Amino acid sequence: MWDFSTDAEFQEKLDWVSAFVHAEIEPLDLLFPAHDAPYDRDSAVFREVVRPLQEQVKARGLWAAHLPPSLGGMGMGQVQLGLLNEILGRCSWAPMVFGTQAPDSGNAEILAHYATDEQRKEFLEPLLEGRIVSCFAMTEPTGGADPGGFTCTAVREGDEWVINGEKWFSSNARWASFFIVMVITEPENAPYQRHSMLIVPADTPGITIVRNVGIAGWDQPGEGGHAYIRYQDVRVPLENLLGDRGGAFVVAQTRLGGGRIHHAMRTVGMARRALEMMLERAVSRHTQGEILAKKQLVQEMVADSWLELEQFRLLVLQTAWKIDKYHDTHRVRGDIAAVKIAMPTVLKNIASRALQVHGSLGSRTKCRS
Ligand SMILES: Cc1cc2nc3c(=O)[nH]c(=O)nc-3n(C[C@H](O)[C@H](O)[C@H](O)COP(=O)(O)OP(=O)(O)OC[C@H]3O[C@@H](n4cnc5c(N)ncnc54)[C@H](O)[C@@H]3O)c2cc1C
Repeated sequence: MWDFSTDAEFQEKLDWVSAFVHAEIEPLDLLFPAHDAPYDRDSAVFREVVRPLQEQVKARGLWAAHLPPSLGGMGMGQVQLGLLNEILGRCSWAPMVFGTQAPDSGNAEILAHYATDEQRKEFLEPLLEGRIVSCFAMTEPTGGADPGGFTCTAVREGDEWVINGEKWFSSNARWASFFIVMVITEPENAPYQRHSMLIVPADTPGITIVRNVGIAGWDQPGEGGHAYIRYQDVRVPLENLLGDRGGAFVVAQTRLGGGRIHHAMRTVGMARRALEMMLERAVSRHTQGEILAKKQLVQEMVADSWLELEQFRLLVLQTAWKIDKYHDTHRVRGDIAAVKIAMPTVLKNIASRALQVHGSLGSRTKCRS
């Protein structure tokens, strides 16, 4: 059966979220624009502005909606999560206010799946309560798309793992209390059984953040949120292993399948916001005696953007629906891959048209794609 309607009770929640995000959170992007600022728990803005907003979300029962009720979440399915995330994706602070920000959401999911009782207490609980943030360190300077090129190792010495190597683009490492690091522990195994996941507290001796790397539009010195990290004789206890020895790919897949579709849901919101800005500009800017919206080329840009966004949104929601139906991201991996491929193209197209319609003002706009 096909049904594109939202039930009235959930729609009421979405309406509240929409009004709350618009009135209370979207202004934070203008007031505190550094894109990694939401992750700095020690900042005054976090304590004085974000914490009270988080309390309102918790009081409404909307905190960490991606998690099951046993972990303090709402246990909503992926379709409902899609409808929620597309509102939260409108601004960079909203996921943090709602406890659904990457990479903490994915890290919480794998900790919930694989952590021992001790690990849950030490790392998962404070993460779920929003007291700390975390980092996922898989990509290396020598290989990202091909994990066969990874070289970071952990060797067992007595009752410790000793880590040596480098990781690249470890998002939010500078704010994180712990890193989940993918390392080679079983070099003699087949390629996909060589790696294990280790939980590494951020203050462990031997960790150096070589530099914090920025992405396009956010590349001012010191602004970057994606760390290049060196691990030199970094020692963690054996019990910091997450999942099985040689089982890192299984753990990573648990995280990446969900993570990708959640990014896509937020991207719908980001693209819609860019489209709305394009529309506002088109009806408010006069040139050569008429508003921009009267120009056929601008109309085409708006129409193309709307079409691409609606098509992408349907693909995302259909994929979410399949995940709900099969409860198995592996079975839906082809759809998730399609969403991942479509996502940057749709956002790039709509954001660049929005910049174009804003003229010189557009060249000042920081694009979060
Ligand atoms: C904003 C952002 C945040 C990130 N956060 C994290 C994080 O928190 N933790 C983490 O571990 N990583 C993170 N990453 C890294 C991300 O996972 C890697 O960028 C990704 O896995 C690709 O690896 P790479 O950058 O080394 O690209 P490469 O491996 O160098 O690949 C470059 C390009 O080559 C092409 N290519 C590669 N393989 C093939 C193939 N088989 N066939 C055809 N073409 C191919 C593709 O176009 C690919 O994009 C982040 C990246 C970004 C942009």
